[in-house]
Amino acid sequence: MSATTDDQPVRQFHADAAVTTTDEPRRAAVRRALKNYEVARDRTKSTFTDWKQARSAASTVKHEAVNHLDRYLAEFEERFTARGGKVFWARDSRQARDYIVQLARERGVRSIVKSKAMTGEEIHLNQALEAEGFGVVESDLGEFIQQLKGEAPYHFVFPCMHLRRDEISDLFNTKLGTEKTDSPEELTMIARRFLRQAYVEADMGISGGNFIVADSGMISITENEGNARLTVGVPKIHVALIGIEKVVPRLADLALFLPMLATAGTGQHMTGYNSMYGGPRQEGEVDGPEEFHVVFLDNHRTRLLADPEQRDALHCIRCGACLNVCPIFKNIGGHTYGTTYQGPIGSVITPHFRGLQDWKHLSGASSLCGACTETCPVGIDIHHHLLHNRRNAAASGPMPGESAVWKAFRWVMRKPSLYRLGLKFAPWMMRIRSWLHRTAIDPAAGWTASRDLPELEARTFRDLLKAHRASRKEPLGGVEKPTSLSKDQKSETVKSTGKKRRK
Ligand code: SF4
Repeated sequence: MSATTDDQPVRQFHADAAVTTTDEPRRAAVRRALKNYEVARDRTKSTFTDWKQARSAASTVKHEAVNHLDRYLAEFEERFTARGGKVFWARDSRQARDYIVQLARERGVRSIVKSKAMTGEEIHLNQALEAEGFGVVESDLGEFIQQLKGEAPYHFVFPCMHLRRDEISDLFNTKLGTEKTDSPEELTMIARRFLRQAYVEADMGISGGNFIVADSGMISITENEGNARLTVGVPKIHVALIGIEKVVPRLADLALFLPMLATAGTGQHMTGYNSMYGGPRQEGEVDGPEEFHVVFLDNHRTRLLADPEQRDALHCIRCGACLNVCPIFKNIGGHTYGTTYQGPIGSVITPHFRGLQDWKHLSGASSLCGACTETCPVGIDIHHHLLHNRRNAAASGPMPGESAVWKAFRWVMRKPSLYRLGLKFAPWMMRIRSWLHRTAIDPAAGWTASRDLPELEARTFRDLLKAHRASRKEPLGGVEKPTSLSKDQKSETVKSTGKKRRK
C-alpha cells in the first residue's frame, strides 16, 4: 500500500468542502433531487415479501461470488468466448486503457459512443481516447450533460443531480446552440436529437456492466434511458469495461438483484431496461456488434479481496443508496470527494484502490451515524469499515502530532495522581492557549478554524457528583454499605423465608 505523503488530496478536500458547505443553492438542488427518494424507496421496499430476508440472501450470494471470484470469472469467460466474445484481464488502469485504445486504433475507429460506466471514469478512459484523437460521446443524459460541462459525475447514479434546469438549458444553449427552455421534456429531446446521430456515426460502443453472470456467460446492464441498448446494438464493435467484483454465480440470482438494485437506487420496482448480452451477433440475429470484448478490471480490487476484514466492500452493487442518505454527502456534495466513487462506499474503497495515506481523510468525512449501513441492500457494514480505515491509517502512516497527543493522554489517564494534577493546571493551560490565540500562534488553529474550543467547566465531574450526593446524603464511594442486621431483624427475616435457624 502506498506510503506517500502527498497532501494535495486532503488540502483540496478541505478547500472544496469549505466552499460547498456554504453553497446553499447547490445544497438545495441536491435536497430537491433527493426529496422523494426515501418515500419511493420505502414504498417499493414494502412490496418485497421480506426486505430483511432479501438483504441477507443478497449478502450470502455476494459472499459466495466474491469468495470464489476466480472460479466464477473463469466460468463466465469459458461460456462467453465459446460464443465468439473476447475477454481481456486488465491488472490496472493502464492495461485497460492501452487495450481499448489499441483496439480502436487497429480497427480504424473514428468515433465512439459510450453509456454510463464508472469504471471508465475510474481509469480516465475518455481522456486517453481523446488524447489519441478519437471522438467520444457520453450517451447517458446525465453523463452527457456533465461531459458538455467538462465535469466528472457528481453522483455515480445521478451524475448531474446538482444542476438546475436553467443551468442545463444555458449549457445546451452555449454548447449546442439550442434555444433556451425550462421544459425538461424539451431539454431531453435536444439531447436525444444529438445522441441519435452519435449512435449512427459511432464505430465503437463502450459500456460498463451491472452484473457478470457466470453460469450463462452473459453480462447484465440495467438502465432507464435505453441508451446502453443502442450503445451495444448499433456500432460494429463493443467493449464492456467491468470491475471483477460484479460477478454473480447464477442467472437466477438476477431475480433478486435487479429489483433490489432498482429499489435501493431510485425507488423503482425495476429499471426501464434490463438487458443481457452474451457476445457478438450470432448467425441469424438481426442486430448486435460484430465484435464483443469484455475487459475485466482489477485495478487493486484483488488488494481489497486479500483483506478478510474489509473484503465485503466488494459486494457493493453501486446502487448509490448510501450516498442518498449520507448527511455528509448531502452537505459537501459529490465533487468534493475528488474520487470516482463518492459518498460512504467511496470513502471505504478509495483508500484501497488509490492508497491509504493519500485518501485516509475520506474516512474522517463521516459522522458515523450508520445510515449508510442501515440502508445498504447487500448489508455492507460501511461505517465500521470507515473506522477500520481510520485505525489502519493511524497504524501504518505518519500522524506524529495526533499519535503523540493520544500517547500522552493514555499515559496520564493511567495515573490518577497525574490526572488530578492535570486538572489543577487545566485552567492555566486554557489561559495560555487563549493568549496564543490572540497572538496568532495558536497551535490548535487548524482544529479551531471550523470549531469552537469549549471553555473549561469551573467544576469537575467529581465536584458535581460530590455535591449531588451530598444533597442526597449519599457517600461519595458509591453504593451505601449494608449495615449488619439487628437480632430482631434477623429473626424476622428467618420467619419470612420460612427457614429454621440451625442450632
Ligand atoms: S455500499 Fe451498499 S448502499 Fe452503497 S452503493 Fe454499494 S450497495 Fe449501494
